[in-house]
Amino acid sequence: MLFESGHKTFDKQADLIDTGNVWGGVQFSGLIRAKSDTECNGFTRPPGHLRDFDLSSFGRTLPPHVKKFVLESTESCPVWLYRFFHKKSPGKYTTHGYIVTAYNHTLLRTFTTGPTRKSDLVIREAAKYVSDCKHPPERLYSWTAGDSTLCVGCCVCGEVLTGGVE
Ligand SMILES: [Zn+2]
Repeated sequence: MLFESGHKTFDKQADLIDTGNVWGGVQFSGLIRAKSDTECNGFTRPPGHLRDFDLSSFGRTLPPHVKKFVLESTESCPVWLYRFFHKKSPGKYTTHGYIVTAYNHTLLRTFTTGPTRKSDLVIREAAKYVSDCKHPPERLYSWTAGDSTLCVGCCVCGEVLTGGVE
């Protein structure tokens, strides 16, 4: 696939970036069931049990602030959790960040956790593939550009909505 975030190594390794359950060269993602979701294969589990199971597939490296946000967002609704990374050397990976969306793919939050400024580019670009930001009005901000054009940006997805020149 042609993926252009500006992070050369990541872009080259990007084989598949898509919504839903993906285990690819640069993406690992899956559904995190809600805390209130307790039914599985005819058995009833304690609240949060299935959610913990889903989260465990992301391993112990899931940053605490990302985990906290996922837990807060899944009291009664499931979310999709995405991790983006590239392979540094055999068996070693650099994680650039995480994206959390609602079950219907509405963007809830992005987290850049990678080592360089380019990680942010990776996450912003990936968000366009796996989510659909509704640009919530309360998360918009505006500024005046050098040529006095009024610009409006979205704090959730980073998109410049009007007037902005990249
Ligand atoms: Zn947005």
